[in-house]
Amino acid sequence: MRKITHVLGVPFDTYTMKEAVGRVMTFLGDGGQHIICTPNPEIVMEAQNDKELMEILKASDMVIPDGIGVVWASKYSEIKIKERVPGYDLTQNVFDKIKDMDYTVYFFGGAPGIASAAAKKMMHKYEGLKIVGTRNGYFNKNDEAKIIDDIKKSKADILLVGLGAPKQEKWIYDNMRFTGAKVCIGVGGSFDVMSGNVKRAPKIFCKLGLEWFYRLITQPTRIKRMMRLPKFALKVLKEK
Ligand code: UDP
Repeated sequence: MRKITHVLGVPFDTYTMKEAVGRVMTFLGDGGQHIICTPNPEIVMEAQNDKELMEILKASDMVIPDGIGVVWASKYSEIKIKERVPGYDLTQNVFDKIKDMDYTVYFFGGAPGIASAAAKKMMHKYEGLKIVGTRNGYFNKNDEAKIIDDIKKSKADILLVGLGAPKQEKWIYDNMRFTGAKVCIGVGGSFDVMSGNVKRAPKIFCKLGLEWFYRLITQPTRIKRMMRLPKFALKVLKEK
C-alpha cells in the first residue's frame, strides 16, 4: 500500500531507498506499465503553474523525493518522508539488483553520445547488466515514431528518459503505452553523471543536504532555476 504525503499538492511516496527498489521489482513483475517520477523542489514549483505536469505527477505509480527540500517540507505534514531517494541512486540500486536477471534497460536522453557512453560505463560497473539500446534526447516530431519503434523493438523492460523536467514526464505520459516498457523513469541529467561528463556532488555535500549548493557552484547557469528554491521554502512555510 502506498503511503503518500503531499508537498504543495504533489503526492510523494514515503519509501526508503530499499522499499523503492522493492517497488520497482514488483512493477517489473506485475504485467503492467508504470511511471516513476523523481521531482525536486524546482519541479514541485514548476507543477504549481503547469497543470499538465501536476496531473502526470498525480497519475504516476511512484513519486520519490529527489531533493532534500522535499524531505524538509514533509516535516510539516502528518506523514513524513523518511529519506531522500534520488533518482540517480535509485537507478544505480536497480542496476545492481537486476544485473544477474533477464531484465533489460534502454537509455533515452542527453546530448549526442552521452547515453551510449553512459551505457558503456554502467555495463562495465554492473557486470551482466543488459542495456539493449540508447538514443540521444535531441529530436523533432518527425523522429519520434522511429525512436518509439526502436525502443519497442529493443523489448526493454525499463526505459530511462533523461530529457529534463517537465519534458521527460510529458514524453513518458504520452508515449509509454507505445514503447512496451514496464517501468519508465524520468531521470533528468543522470546520463551526464553516468557517462562521467558531470560529477556528482562529493558525499559530504549530500550528507549535509547541500547537493543543490554543489550543483550551483559547479553549474552556475542553473541559477535561474535555483531561484525557485527560496520561493519553494517560503510557500511551504506560508501554507503550514
Ligand atoms: N536534454 C535532452 N533533450 C532536450 C533537453 C535536455 O536530452 O531536449 C537533456 C540534457 O542533455 C540533460 C538533461 O536533459 O542531460 C537535463 O539535465 P538537467 O540536469 O537539467 O536535469 P534535471 O535533473 O535538473 O531535471
